[in-house]
Amino acid sequence: MKICAYEVRQDELKDFAVYSKQYDCEIERHEELLTSDTAALAAGCEGVTTLGQSKLDAPLLDKLYAMGVRYIGTRTIGFNHIDVAHAKKIGLSVCHASYDPNGVADFTVMLMLMVLRHYKPSLWRGQVNDWSLQGLQGRELRNLTVGVVGTGRIGAAVIKNLSGFGPKILAYDAHHNPAIESYVEYVPRNTLYENSDIITLHVPLFDSTAHMINSYTIDKMKDGVVLINCARGELMDPVALTKGIESGKIGGLGLDVIEGEEGLVHRDRRTDIISNKDIAYLRQFPNVVMTQHMAFYTDAAVASMVRSAVEGITAMAKNGSYLTML
Ligand code: NAD
Repeated sequence: MKICAYEVRQDELKDFAVYSKQYDCEIERHEELLTSDTAALAAGCEGVTTLGQSKLDAPLLDKLYAMGVRYIGTRTIGFNHIDVAHAKKIGLSVCHASYDPNGVADFTVMLMLMVLRHYKPSLWRGQVNDWSLQGLQGRELRNLTVGVVGTGRIGAAVIKNLSGFGPKILAYDAHHNPAIESYVEYVPRNTLYENSDIITLHVPLFDSTAHMINSYTIDKMKDGVVLINCARGELMDPVALTKGIESGKIGGLGLDVIEGEEGLVHRDRRTDIISNKDIAYLRQFPNVVMTQHMAFYTDAAVASMVRSAVEGITAMAKNGSYLTML
């Protein structure tokens, strides 16, 4: 079978070569996003794979279907960029990636430590030979309470990582995960908000979770709360984050993702005028650590992302099903 791969990065090429051989398919590779303008690249292909920046809305899905595409495999865990309901309706099968949660979980704890130990201003100072300590006194994880929202694969791995540092861990999820119940106390969401020094989100982006961190929920939190987001930017209202940082209600932010990141992350925009005021303003605070949606980005995860897409598309075509089919 023939698959058209969009958003292909150089570092994925060797994995595409390995898995096209292993799953016996021909894969065309393109750097472009999948849009209505680039959809024609998939002519003659039954399968299409993208990363998370292509927006697969209803008109684009209709266009792909009309061209003969029947299978879509996103090389990401999150699938909020695909109108899955419409895909199902018109007969397109969709699967998402699955990879070891440890890379994102390690990154999450790293962001917590970077914020708690003021690593960003310390790095700034070191670069101009300012080795002073003023303003850099940190806090120790073992003396704090961490609230984990979402205890699926990544949330559970974060909890296991954190257990080695010794904080009290509160958790909230619609479904309790028996694998981590001995490390955490499951509490209602508001109890978690009210009692946590650090809150980290590991839930998917749905209508029900969009802007779950907003002015109203931030008001419930402890003064000086540290918020971490390695899930999806849209889970947090950036205007409310800015207000919280300005007032001191929020003591620090560790953001691997932020609303409006599309078109910025994973690109070199050094010489461009960046018009997203929320991002430009938030990122300059000493207590806001922002990274370019890279928590996932390890050698092992990239190989699994490519494998999931190729394996998923070929399995859906062969068996009509796949483990991570949506
Ligand atoms: P998962 O499906 O294993 O876990 C998600 C958990 O969220 C589940 O336990 C589910 O019950 C819970 N949940 C869903 N809605 C909820 C709600 N309203 N309130 C509380 N809990 C709720 O997913 P995962 O593999 O742990 O990934 C979590 C998210 O992380 C993904 O959806 C993706 O958006 C994001 N992610 C980000 C990166 C990155 O590089 N920054 C990489 C991978 C995944």
